[in-house]
Formats: sequence, structure tokens, C-alpha cells
Amino acid sequence: MAVQTVSSSTPEPASTGADQVSLGPAVSLSCRECGERVPLGPSFACTACFGPLEVAYDLPVGDPEALRKRIESGPSSIWRYAPLLPVPEDVADKPNLNPGLTKLVKADNLARELGVTGSLYVKDDSGNPTHSFKDRVVAIAVEAARAFGFTTLSCSSTGNLAGAVGAAAARAGLRSCVFIPHDLEQGKVVMAAVYGGELVGIEGTYDDVNRFCSELIGDPIGEGWGFVNVNLRPYYAEGSKTLAYEICEQLGWRLPDQIVVPIASGSQLTKIDKGLRELIALGLVEDRPYKIFGAQAEGCSPVSQAYKNGHDVVRPVRPDTIAKSLAIGNPADGPYVLDIARRTGGAVEDVDDARVVEAIKLLARTEGIFAETAGGVTVGVTKKLIDDGLLDPSLETVVLNTGDGLKTLDAVAPTTGPTAIIRPNLDSFREAGLA
Ligand SMILES: *Cc1c(COP(=O)(O)O)cnc(C)c1O
Ligand SMILES: [Zn+2]
Repeated sequence: MAVQTVSSSTPEPASTGADQVSLGPAVSLSCRECGERVPLGPSFACTACFGPLEVAYDLPVGDPEALRKRIESGPSSIWRYAPLLPVPEDVADKPNLNPGLTKLVKADNLARELGVTGSLYVKDDSGNPTHSFKDRVVAIAVEAARAFGFTTLSCSSTGNLAGAVGAAAARAGLRSCVFIPHDLEQGKVVMAAVYGGELVGIEGTYDDVNRFCSELIGDPIGEGWGFVNVNLRPYYAEGSKTLAYEICEQLGWRLPDQIVVPIASGSQLTKIDKGLRELIALGLVEDRPYKIFGAQAEGCSPVSQAYKNGHDVVRPVRPDTIAKSLAIGNPADGPYVLDIARRTGGAVEDVDDARVVEAIKLLARTEGIFAETAGGVTVGVTKKLIDDGLLDPSLETVVLNTGDGLKTLDAVAPTTGPTAIIRPNLDSFREAGLA
């Protein structure tokens, strides 16, 4: 496959002297709106129509059995799917965090509580190196940053991304400088700072942080900076496909009937759909219908509101919810999420903060999985979708938990604690009514 040439309008690569990049099966970027093709580079918007760019591939079609074997004998991380990702072939040999291949937990106890008679699974991405799904997307963005010669890794973050970028940059030997809203949970702030990069709190919402980063990219100050979710966004986004690949492989190379996915910008949901469609196209799974459901917190539910009102456009909101990792008031991929929910026969739903907390505790109590608020959102929405008859409890369903409860202790701390505090003797234990 031919190596692509980086167009001269992209920022000067810092180093190699070569102006070519090799990102495995990726051949170009293509506009999701008008199909315009542009060479691989740090571009994210179509110059013809301003539509978002995504990675286009020359995928290894032909022998599904050989591809399946190659994947199965690959590394125990997302790199087993390197033939389907915009990364160099030797990606697994470079210093990186090797995320992915997290547990797909058969959740029979939760199924019983929710009245699910089919099989219910939780895809538990809290098991990633920095305890959220963001390690997947950052790992791909790092490869793009390396290929384009960026020396500083950056992002606008609702919390988890900042930690994932800090850790990945530390391991890759890149400088990092990341931006978050100043009022995030302590667990997220500490996680973002501990890897030694620069962490900047911005007085404003995530959407303000994001606007600030766009300004920085346009300014000479931002030269040599790779913003994983802005100018590297097309590559970053592809990392979410690995969730789809893993779920199907862990089910024995089968599509689930239904998947419940949290929505922040909507990128993860749209790329899970892309990943499933690729597996079908490559003959790795049988082609049959699946439904994708989107989950939001009521206090930041612009996509859910648009879905319920039958709208094609998403009206921005000002977020107010404990599910801060999902608090994007102006989700870039909102319209695509609406398309996918409607096309697959899924839905988009939201739950209030009290139900998010209830759902976190329900998942912990039934399956021993302590989810962050985003996981409370997906489990809470799953329950609501079943109660409303929108999700079929007799089918096979996968619910995503995208982050670790230790990062959002504030959500459950006020209603969770010791059953009793006693003196160290049996009388005291008896008096507490525990004997
Ligand atoms: C970022 C994030 C998501 C999804 O984000 P998208 O922008 O929709 O891709 C989901 N869960 C958690 C915990 C996150 O940090
Ligand atoms: Zn276009």
C-alpha cells in the first residue's frame, strides 16, 4: 500500500526530514459530509464544507479466517487490532500504555434485578491503565502525534482525558500540557497532575475550555502541539472502534443485539458503530441487525432531548450534572449519534443525578463493579429503557462502564459509609445490632 504524502499546508514536522507518514492501513482523511479526501495530516475539518474529517482505510479484505487468527495471536491489548487502526505496524514495540482487552463481565445478578431474561454483559473499561476508556483513544492519537512530529501532547478534557494524555505522554517521552474546567472532582485533578505534565484549570465549562484550545491551535504558541481531541481528533476517535472489536471477539466473534453507550461528544458511540460495520464488511462477524442506545445525564442531555423531540440538530445546553465526564453541552458528534440511534432502531435516553447514584450502587452491589458517574448513567438509562419498553430484555445486551468509581467518590460518599463505628470488643459489635 502506498505511503501518503503530508500536504505542505500542514504544520512543519519537527524532525525526520521526510514529509511522509505511514499509519498502517490508513490511506487518507475523508469528509463525513461531502466525501472530500485529504492527505493524512493534523487536519480535522473539511476545507470544502467544514464537515468533520475521519480516517479512510485500505482494510485487509479477503480472508476473514486469516485475519481472525492474526488478531487472536496478537498482543493482549488494542494493538491486536492494529491491522484495522491508523497506527504503524510495529506500534506494540513502542513505549505506550498498551490499553484495552478489558473484561466483558457476564452480569447475571444485575440482569435479575433489571428483569433481563436474555444475557447481560458489562464491558468494564475501568480496567484500563488510567482507569477510563480514554486510554484507547489517546494511544491512537499518540501515534499520529509521533508521525506528524508534534512534541507537546495536549487536550481539552472533562477529566479522564487529561489523565490519559498525561500518562501516555510521560510514557512516550513527550511534553504534555492539558486543560480542564477548574471545578472537577479531586480524583480527576490529581490523576491528571500526577504524571508530571502541565495541568491548567480554566474558569469555565468544558465548552469554554474547548474554545480556548481552538484559539491556541490557531496561534503561534500552539505550534508543535498535538491536541488529541482537536487537531488529532480523526485519529483519536478511531480508538473507540476497539471497544466494538473487543466486545465481538469476547462474545466469540458475534455481534450483540443491543449496546448501551454513554454520550459526551458522541464520538465513542459513532465509532463503535463504525467498528461494528467494519467487522461485518470484513466478514469477521455475521451480518445481522444490532441496536445502539445512547445514554446521557438529564443535567446535560442535548442529544437525548433532540432525539425525543424528533430533531436532527442538537441545541447546546449549559451542563449541570454530577456526571462531569459526560458534561459536554455542545456535542460535536450529536447529529451522527441521532442518525445511528434511529438507523439501528435504538434510542437516546437520560437519567437524573439521583438515579445515576442509585445505578452506581446497584452495579456495585450486584456485580462488584464500582463505576464512575458515566457508568451510573449507562446502567441507569438501561433500567429506564427496559421500564419504558424501548430495550428488549429478552435479547443479548452489552452495557458500557467507561470509568472507575474511585475518580468520582463525591457522587456516592454522602450516602455510603461504615455501617457502624464500634469499640474493638464483641459487646460493642452486639450493641450495634450486627451479631
Ligand atoms: C470521554 C468519556 C466518554 C465518552 O466521550 P465521547 O466524547 O462521547 O466519545 C464516556 N465515558 C467517560 C468516562 C469518558 O471520560
Ligand atoms: Zn466536506
